[in-house]
Amino acid sequence: MICCEKCFKDSEIKGIIKSLNNNGDCETCNKKNVFIYDTESNDNLVDNFNELLGIYTPITSLPKDFPREKLSLLKDVLNDKWNIFNIDSEKIYSLLTNICKEKYEEAPELFDFPIGISEINEKDYLESHSILKTHEWEDFVEEIKTKNRFHTKYINTDVLEVLCSFIERPLKKGTKLYRARISEESGFPVDKMGAPAPGKASAGRVNPLGINYLYLADDRLTTLNEVRAGAYDYVSVGEFILKEDITIVDFTLLEKISPFTGVGTTQLAINMDHLRKISNEIAKPLRRSDGPLDYLPTQYIADFIKSVKHEDGGTYAGIKYKSTLYEDGYNIAFFDERLFECVEVCVYDVKGIEYRFNLLGE
Ligand SMILES: [Zn+2]
Repeated sequence: MICCEKCFKDSEIKGIIKSLNNNGDCETCNKKNVFIYDTESNDNLVDNFNELLGIYTPITSLPKDFPREKLSLLKDVLNDKWNIFNIDSEKIYSLLTNICKEKYEEAPELFDFPIGISEINEKDYLESHSILKTHEWEDFVEEIKTKNRFHTKYINTDVLEVLCSFIERPLKKGTKLYRARISEESGFPVDKMGAPAPGKASAGRVNPLGINYLYLADDRLTTLNEVRAGAYDYVSVGEFILKEDITIVDFTLLEKISPFTGVGTTQLAINMDHLRKISNEIAKPLRRSDGPLDYLPTQYIADFIKSVKHEDGGTYAGIKYKSTLYEDGYNIAFFDERLFECVEVCVYDVKGIEYRFNLLGE
């Protein structure tokens, strides 16, 4: 069976196929003149996939009390949990059984029956390898809101620290980002575009009440959406320049994590859902109906990330997450506003806005 570099999203796999330097037409995704991989004559992907498959156990070999909701089919695991393939799950199945032909003959139940990660059912393993130990995110939310706020034992901070290092990225001096404030037609001067004064900041998903972080977005349109400008509002948009090289934790990288880097794949697999949950919670828009306790869980995580020393010896300067108000946009909450200088403010006159909604209760 012939597949190609375009059949995959995973950067490690793409790299391997490109390095073979075979050009041709792909019979899996039908792209023409691409870097191809022939499962009959190439074996460069076999070890990678065998190793990944090795972290899963078919239902036939799992203990009877293994939680049913933690079982899935391999083709779905590879499609939903890992961003490896760029083809649908039926094609994933055929391609995988061809890539791992020997494994398929040896253990077809791994490909055909529901599978799970046996460590998910092992209390000791979870205590030392899962961000939330043996708990679910909802248990942590309940704990921090109603029981123990500052010294909760629900989070394994050692694990969180390791996983942050998987999604850290540098941000170069000179990077341009934006922040909007609804204003008068005359707009705000540059010195009024920064974070609120210390002690004055209202609580957000990343910053606790009174602690002022600078929330910036990747472009002007994201920031206009983020500030929720209404029709006929004037909005001042400040352009901010980063004054030094820094390192941030980037939750948008979660979708690009490769299980083929050879480090801690089982641990990554059992924490992927937790990390996605944290990422989605941080990105969730604030609602008027939110109570002051609703932001505590993500504030706790952010506060810990702020305290971590990364490999270069510095601390993380901020957290990047996707914008839920503007598709493809992203936001970064910076812990110290002095990292940036606001160099310019433009005033926008909002002519109209577009509503998107779902009807509830259907
Ligand atoms: Zn292809």
